[in-house]
Amino acid sequence: MPQSLSYQKRLSPVLKDIAAYYGTPFHIYDEAGIRETGRNLIDAFKGIEGFREYFAVKALPNPSVMALMKDMGFGFDCSSVPELVLARGTGARGEDLMFTSNNTSPDDFLAAENDGGSILNLDDISLVDKVPAMPELICFRYNPGPRRTGNAIIGNPVEAKYGVSFEQLVDAYKKAKDRGAVRFGMHTMLASNERNYTYMVETARMILDMVAMVSEALHIRFEFVNIGGGLGIPYRPEDQALDIQAMGEEITAIFNSFKAAHGYVPKLFLESGRYMTGPHGVLVTKAINRKDIYRSYVGVDACMSALMRPGIYGAYHHITVLGKEDAAHDTVVDVVGSLCENNDKFAVERHLPAIVDGDLVIIHDTGAHGHAMGFNYNAKMRPKELMLKIDGTVELIRREETMEDYFATLRFEKDVFKPA
Ligand SMILES: *Cc1c(COP(=O)(O)O)cnc(C)c1O
Repeated sequence: MPQSLSYQKRLSPVLKDIAAYYGTPFHIYDEAGIRETGRNLIDAFKGIEGFREYFAVKALPNPSVMALMKDMGFGFDCSSVPELVLARGTGARGEDLMFTSNNTSPDDFLAAENDGGSILNLDDISLVDKVPAMPELICFRYNPGPRRTGNAIIGNPVEAKYGVSFEQLVDAYKKAKDRGAVRFGMHTMLASNERNYTYMVETARMILDMVAMVSEALHIRFEFVNIGGGLGIPYRPEDQALDIQAMGEEITAIFNSFKAAHGYVPKLFLESGRYMTGPHGVLVTKAINRKDIYRSYVGVDACMSALMRPGIYGAYHHITVLGKEDAAHDTVVDVVGSLCENNDKFAVERHLPAIVDGDLVIIHDTGAHGHAMGFNYNAKMRPKELMLKIDGTVELIRREETMEDYFATLRFEKDVFKPA
């Protein structure tokens, strides 16, 4: 069952007013829900000293949301220079930031090492020689390849472009140590939207095994392991939520046995994106048209520029209609945007209550990889973002795009070059 249904209970009574004031469409995020999920995450891992969540910025790169993460003591997982800039904008510095890039460029390294630095998480052994200044603390992303099967979404690790292979792992740390690194972490990320927590427990076990192997080979200790993001959320009514408490207990037990065997234990880092914000946002859009041809279509005033997941992954997002939550779902419609692209559908052959022009259609669980994935194809603009705060106020936290934004990259000094 989507967790956003509890958010809906608080949002529904005020949504009509909010839509009238700000105009549709918009994503609206829920401060109370984000904080509650953050507290539950911290609580689940309270048995592991130094546990820390590094919020994956790409899921919801909005400074107002990131400020909540900072306030909860979280760091940030960044993989591009603008993400680093955003995270530093919250006041995060140095070891508050993990820089997990891949196919890393010289400019990426400079940005990661300057302006207060970050924890460099190297994606390949060859990058050891390309880091401008080897930091004291270094991390590598581990890809287990055939030693592990990936989850359904992220796929087979053998085919994944990320990380250092098993065969390279000891050498990677040795090279970094030879270049002057004295503190070490290890990272991996093998799942996406995985609701079966035992997958993450196995990942924790796997990475501690790798830590033991590298420690022994090089006589080093590890300060942390980072088991990545990928915690899943229930998008469909029949989906079970991930059992974060059980996941925390089982991982804590694995950490305790590592400590018993080795006399110390690294800290545990997570870098959840979806889990932290996914259920705590909805896209609110207005029905503006209906047509009945071979199928029936409800046209809304948002399109896939606001939410790509249904269009590119066929992902399910639950849909409710304000004021018709309990009405009979006795019509079957596609809910569509206005893009000239037939993938531009929020739902396909969905059973919904009869929708008329002016109805507010709520697309659930858009708090992660929603607005952030939006794009401008067909000159479609991305909508605004709002936050429903704990004190009951609503704040505009990003305005909608305008034509001015769209044309901004066409305004530049004339620049002509004739190759010799
Ligand atoms: C995308 C990503 C995440 C966040 O993934 P979620 O599925 O949103 O939890 C974390 N770490 C890395 C390296 C990523 O690329």
